[in-house]
Formats: sequence, structure tokens, C-alpha cells
Amino acid sequence: MGREYHPPPGVPSFHRFHIPRSESVATHEFEVVIVGAGPSGMCAGLYAGRSMLKSVVLERGFPGGELLNTEVIEDYIGFEHVLGHELASKFQAHAEKFGAEIRTSTPVESVTKRDDGLFETVVESGDVYLSPTVIVTAGGTPVKLDVPGEIEYAGKGVSYCAICDGAFYKGHTIMVVGGGDAACEEADFLTRYAEKVYLVHRRDSFRASKIVQQRVFANPKIEVIWDTVVDEIVGAGGLMTHARIRHAKTGVASDLIATGIFIFVGFKPNTGILRGHIEHDSAGYLITDANMQTSVPGLFAAGDVRAQLTRQVTTAVGDATTAAIGVEKYLTARKNGQPLPVPPPMLVSATSVQV
Ligand SMILES: Cc1cc2nc3c(=O)[nH]c(=O)nc-3n(C[C@H](O)[C@H](O)[C@H](O)COP(=O)(O)OP(=O)(O)OC[C@H]3O[C@@H](n4cnc5c(N)ncnc54)[C@H](O)[C@@H]3O)c2cc1C
Repeated sequence: MGREYHPPPGVPSFHRFHIPRSESVATHEFEVVIVGAGPSGMCAGLYAGRSMLKSVVLERGFPGGELLNTEVIEDYIGFEHVLGHELASKFQAHAEKFGAEIRTSTPVESVTKRDDGLFETVVESGDVYLSPTVIVTAGGTPVKLDVPGEIEYAGKGVSYCAICDGAFYKGHTIMVVGGGDAACEEADFLTRYAEKVYLVHRRDSFRASKIVQQRVFANPKIEVIWDTVVDEIVGAGGLMTHARIRHAKTGVASDLIATGIFIFVGFKPNTGILRGHIEHDSAGYLITDANMQTSVPGLFAAGDVRAQLTRQVTTAVGDATTAAIGVEKYLTARKNGQPLPVPPPMLVSATSVQV
């Protein structure tokens, strides 16, 4: 085994469900184990099923991933307007129809490659899944502000995705929170829709790259509010109306009128389950080759957990399609005693680390 996997500071492992360990643990054998049943995991399950692979999708909660935290989706081709949970149900039904076996309430604790080449995936009950290949589709988690109103107004003013939700704010006054590349880029992007964007940052300078900062300062629709933190998100009639903000140095509090708040204070990939060294970028996202194989042969990654330009449902299912077919080719080569496809040297792509 190689070196231990060292995710960057603050990268979470996974949300823990309190499932008691069984007295006796079982060992299950599959050709491919898929970790996570978000859009990516369910799509990988569908393709694995169609390829007649003995596969299983292990999900810590319910199938759907971030779709379950999304009110409406308007940019998934073929669906002009679909509720997040509705799309999740359609994905699940379709994947299961083609043979995907989704085991819910099954949090994965660790994935380790053994000396015999098999992956050992241990779940919280203590059961062990052995397989020559694993596809990690565990997604990521947007970092929250952790202030009152943030959960209450999620999808009703609070958003973590400008591409997804920006179009809902045509002509509105909104705010963006953060000071890294993501916050500055998305504030600039959101002015396509919003009449006015307040960019609220807790410090007196941005961490974003200079060129991105220049775009912000040159944009007449953006007003930067320095040295300011958000204390509360407030609304009426089920929709956000304003935020309670406070100057970080003077402590003076005030209300900022805005119908939307886009929070970009970080996004952490769910990679804490992986053991051994796996190439990742500076923010902890897994780097893959064109077949979605990571630097560990037989370990594939797809969707939000992977280092890439953007993270959407379309990219998640696209990655998953490639990964499942990549797994099929890998297993065929293994069965026929052919040389296993070895991942090419990785190009380190730097995904911006957000403040
Ligand atoms: C608020 C919000 C709104 C969005 N709106 C849109 C939109 O309008 N359009 C769009 O295209 N995209 C949107 N996105 C992005 C889109 O939801 C994601 O890109 C997509 O869900 C990624 O799919 P995924 O399967 O890679 O990851 P996820 O959806 O994150 O799914 C990962 C799954 O893995 C499971 N998991 C994690 N760790 C473990 C573990 N240890 N054991 C077992 N299971 C585990 C999780 O429970 C989850 O079900 C939005 C995202 C957010 C946060």
C-alpha cells in the first residue's frame, strides 16, 4: 500500500448515520462497487447494469445526492423545468430498471486497495465489499455560513450555485458572500441577471486572482462590501427579504436588502473515505484520466468529486457514463489476462481554493 491519503485541511469525510455495527459482518463480492447514489452514482449503476456487470451502489442516505437539496432544475437538457426530487426519482427508477442495485442507508467508511489487487470497501455496519474496481461518486459539500435562516431559506433565496439558480433573479438585487475566485467570478456572472449584486467579504481584500478582481471592480452592477459578515438571513412569506450583516471591525450591524444570497465560501469533496495515496488537486478533488480512472488502477471517480471545470448534473452523468464503460474495459482486460489499462501521468489541474 502507498502513502496515506491526505486531504487538504478541512476536507470532510462523510456525514455519519448512526447505524449499529452488526454482531457478525458479511463479505459481499461484486465486479464494481459504486460509492454514492447521486446523479453520477445512479447513472454509473445504470450503465453497469446494462453492461451486465455484477454491481452495487452504496448510498449513505437516500438516492438523489444534491438533487435533493435543489428546488428546481432548468438546465438539464430535455427538462425545461423539473423539481430536484422529481429528477432524482426518475434517475432512480431508470437506473433500477436497467439492473442497478442501490443499497440505501449504507455509509461507506473506507475504500482500500489490497495487495491482491482487490478493493475492500467497508461500510458502517462492518460489512465488507470486495471488488476489482470501484467508482467513487461521493460528490462534495458546499461549506455553509452556519447562520440562522440559511437552512430555512435554502432554495427560497439561499443558493450555492450561480449557474443553477442565477436565472431566477432577473432584475433583482442580490448578494454574494465570499472573497475567492468562485465568489468573484460568480458575482460577475450573476450581473447577467441581477440588477445589482452586493459582494460581501469578511476581509478588506480578495483572495481571488487579480484578473478576476479586475472584472469585479470594473463591473458597475457590483458593489463590494468589505470587512463584513452575515449574521442572519431573514425573510417573510417563505422567501428571503434581507440579510442581517455586521461590520467585522466596528461591530455595527445593519440590514442589507436582497432577495437572494449566493454563498461561495468553499466546497469540499467527499474523499475522506479513501485510503492510500491518490492524486488530487490543491482543493482535494480527485484527478482522473480521460476514462475517469484515478492514479490508482481500478479506482475510478465521476461527478462532483472529480477535478474539473464545472460541476453540474450534465457533467456528473457524463463522467459516470465514461467511468462505467472504462470499468467494463478494465474488467475485460483483467479477465482476458491482457495488460490492464494504466492511467497516464496525471496533469495537475488547479481548481481554485475558495475562501
Ligand atoms: C443547491 C444546489 C443547486 C444545484 N442546482 C443545479 C442545477 O440547477 N442544475 C445542475 O445541473 N446542477 C445543479 N447543482 C449541481 C448538481 O447538483 C451536482 O453537480 C450533482 O448533483 C453532482 O452529482 P454527483 O452524483 O457527482 O454528487 P452528489 O449529487 O453530491 O451525490 C453524491 C452522493 O454520494 C453520497 N455519499 C457521499 N459520501 C458517501 C459515503 N461515504 N458513503 C455512501 N454514500 C456517500 C451522498 O449522500 C450523495 O447521495 C446544484 C447543486 C447545489 C448544491
